[in-house]
Amino acid sequence: MPNHPPKESDKNITTISIIVPAYNEEEVILALYERIKSVTKELPYNFRLVFINDGSKDHTAEIITQLSENDPQVELINLSRNFGKEIAMSAGLDHATGEAVIIIDADLQDPPELIPELLEMWRAGNDVVYAKRISRDGESLLKKITAYLFYRTIKKIGHVEIPADTGDFRLLSRPAIDALKSLREHHRFMKGLFAWIGYKQTAIPYHRDRRFAGSTKWNYWKLWNFALEGITSFTTAPLKIATYFGLTVAALSFIYGIWMIVHTLIHGNPVPGYPSLMVVILFLGGVQLIALGVIGEYLGRMFDETKQRPLYLISEHINPPSPHHKE
Ligand code: UDP
Ligand code: MG
Repeated sequence: MPNHPPKESDKNITTISIIVPAYNEEEVILALYERIKSVTKELPYNFRLVFINDGSKDHTAEIITQLSENDPQVELINLSRNFGKEIAMSAGLDHATGEAVIIIDADLQDPPELIPELLEMWRAGNDVVYAKRISRDGESLLKKITAYLFYRTIKKIGHVEIPADTGDFRLLSRPAIDALKSLREHHRFMKGLFAWIGYKQTAIPYHRDRRFAGSTKWNYWKLWNFALEGITSFTTAPLKIATYFGLTVAALSFIYGIWMIVHTLIHGNPVPGYPSLMVVILFLGGVQLIALGVIGEYLGRMFDETKQRPLYLISEHINPPSPHHKE
């Protein structure tokens, strides 16, 4: 098993990269740093703490820069603007040099104390070890319900099985990281991509904490768009639904048309039916607009992908890994 965990003899030099996407997290960075440090100092690996500052408008970058001055293990990648968490994570994966990578949120909702367990499962031969929430504190009932529905829907209509109740908190082995790095699509639904690559995956249960400080960067509009992204990047089912719906309506109209002809032949045509005519016209107009909208969602994504822009731009890289690290 070449890609897998080190022997006793060389484990001291195995590098593990911890990736932290951070957007306006000045209130939590220090607490996070302390908690990660107190966990990792007990472990026989060489850790690198890679912060991806996703265009924060507060002092996140300054705080991390200060940390990096005193701690050579702290690496900071400043993106040129806010690109969103999915892309920030990808930037981290692109630049991580470790034999394994752990992705963790900055807000301490993912407890760093789980890191030893993640590493243990990796050493047991798994490529992807994801943390599965058994509880969610501090989140509204509506968010829990919508999250539940989303995971069940995507499992039903998507082609990949995305494990329910998992966030991005996970460990990835080098082969899994390289696989993910080869997926360069712009519309990155990371939870789906993590599942898409396959490899040996396993879950460990954990208790998801409240945010340590600051506020969530999500609102329902963003979540809705996130769900749309998830569905459109992994399934063309909505396009098919439009087709079948169209076929059904056409078939029913055909039957209705025949009935009308027969009816007119037998009873003549006294010209009633304005209300039903309006209903049919408006209904079909609505259906057509919806179908056009669905096509538009896919077309727009194709447009974005064909531009082939880089996923992100980096404005500054502090404490990059030294050249003897293997890339
Ligand atoms: N984040 C990011 N870019 C963004 C939004 C969020 O890098 O545009 C980071 C954020 O700093 C945090 C993680 O993504 O480390 C999760 O964000 P948040 O806590 O707001 O999401 P939630 O936990 O509510 O899903
Ligand atoms: Mg959070």
